[in-house]
Amino acid sequence: MSEFSTEIDYDVLDDQRQIIDNNSIGFGYILMCLERRLIQEQDVDVINKDPKQRNLERQLADEMYDHLMTILDDHRILSEETLDFASPADTLDASSYESDSQLSSADDWEPELEASSNAGRENLTSEQHKTVCNYIREHPKHSWKALQSRFSFLRQHSDSLYYRLRLVAKDNSRETRLEKLSVLYETLWEQFESSRGRFETVSDHDLAQWAMVIAQDLDLNGFKASASFLYRWKIKYRVCSRKVTKFVSHRNILSREQKALEAQNLGRKIQAIVQAENIAHKNIFNADQTGIPYEISSNRTLSHRGERSTFGHVQSINSTKHSFTAMLLISADGKLADKTLLCLQEIGGRFGPSVERGLYRPPNVSLTCTRSGLFTDSTYKWWVDTILSNHIKHDQKCLFIADSWAPHKNAENYRIFADNDENFKFEIIPPQTTSICQPLDVYFNRQLKNLDRLITHPLRTKYGQQYSVFQRNTAIRIMSLIQFTLSAPIFEPMIRYSFLKSGLVAMEREEFKSSNQVCRVQSVAKCYNFACDERVDMRCSWCANSYCILCMLGLGSEGLHMDYCEIYQDRCSLRPMDVDD
Ligand SMILES: [Zn+2]
Ligand SMILES: [Zn+2]
Repeated sequence: MSEFSTEIDYDVLDDQRQIIDNNSIGFGYILMCLERRLIQEQDVDVINKDPKQRNLERQLADEMYDHLMTILDDHRILSEETLDFASPADTLDASSYESDSQLSSADDWEPELEASSNAGRENLTSEQHKTVCNYIREHPKHSWKALQSRFSFLRQHSDSLYYRLRLVAKDNSRETRLEKLSVLYETLWEQFESSRGRFETVSDHDLAQWAMVIAQDLDLNGFKASASFLYRWKIKYRVCSRKVTKFVSHRNILSREQKALEAQNLGRKIQAIVQAENIAHKNIFNADQTGIPYEISSNRTLSHRGERSTFGHVQSINSTKHSFTAMLLISADGKLADKTLLCLQEIGGRFGPSVERGLYRPPNVSLTCTRSGLFTDSTYKWWVDTILSNHIKHDQKCLFIADSWAPHKNAENYRIFADNDENFKFEIIPPQTTSICQPLDVYFNRQLKNLDRLITHPLRTKYGQQYSVFQRNTAIRIMSLIQFTLSAPIFEPMIRYSFLKSGLVAMEREEFKSSNQVCRVQSVAKCYNFACDERVDMRCSWCANSYCILCMLGLGSEGLHMDYCEIYQDRCSLRPMDVDD
């Protein structure tokens, strides 16, 4: 709420809010109060002394006023002059500017009128225009009817053109001025285009300067490159004018230096804690939720609607809009948690019974859902209880680091570790600094997204019709494969590097491989699965053999590679995800 000190009793207001319905509120009076304060700058007390009006409207007006002031205080509007070509869709109806063109003062009278008329009803060529004008000059008494019988091309026009033609004919010098202006328009356009061709930024000021120079060359006396001239010119050549490009909050934006400083302080603080408490790297954790970037391309999905029904997964159209969020947990010794919690978006925040039955549940992915597909306080608590708790050892000092998202900060959510108060600590990364000091953000998540692309690309291009990435179970399989892939020992140095780069944990720099280096294959060989005929798409980060994406996702005939690599298991008999050393 705002920090403004006003006389509003919010408790009373809240009480009233419950019993009033919108129809009984006098919005007119609210607006009037706002107007009196905002525009007439009257004092709140003056308005509040008005005995005729109900208290409620006044209070609502006061509240709105405060909100408005807070918003205006917090934000500034950044606008800039962008002189780009407008898309044809933005092209304004020329006729709607006709009334503008009639506001003609000396140099505002420009060929615009002629040009737009030519495009519309009054289709005179400049030749015709000249001929008629000359005729009118020689026969000033001839009526519009007489003109029309003489020049057949005038017959489709109304007599408004007659008056305008007479005006032009009467003023010879005006016609030459008109021609000069027309030249000015075109010359300015050429200059603008050549400048844009060199990718220079053109401002209104530049345009005005050029126009003045050109006008001088043309002996256009008294020409002022006025704002309205520039406006008309831009309309004519479909050049965009002022746009509000950003509406930004300035109160809460930290400068780059401030962010670096905050991040540095956090790094120092955490390194000090780690040293003082002697916390092992395997017990330093970072968790965050990340949206899995499934592009929602509705055309594509719709075009496959017919084919869908031939497969088992009959889904509502709504399912094409699902989004997914994953809660990831990494530790400073380079391990990814044994499980990732995937949060799906479901109507009503629950899986329907048939959905529930059909859900694919791989061992390395836990599933939950919310209305939004984003984590909530309760889903977060569930994650702490079921996944984080598996990694927090009661007899060892542990440090959990997360960003300033409210549920992360809520100590209540860590109640499960209450008996372990001595050993369990959590630290919050200050807002706006996660991109420089959160291990997941500084490196790991990029690897995850690259891997996601590596998986979804062949799936879309080769099997898009059968295995849409929008289907719940396909999404779950992809998450499972990502989790499985990034858990491989080969990625441990990469995860350690994420912590190193964040500056939160001091450690030696070591060689590491990125997900593309490990998993991308450039080969047209056949899938390593003997029974499979597909070409390879991806290398297994465990056994280093290459498989097609269907085999990797367990969708092929030999679905073995999504959460378990038999070959690797045979090679070294220990179960790799046993994090306990
Ligand atoms: Zn493998
Ligand atoms: Zn295969």
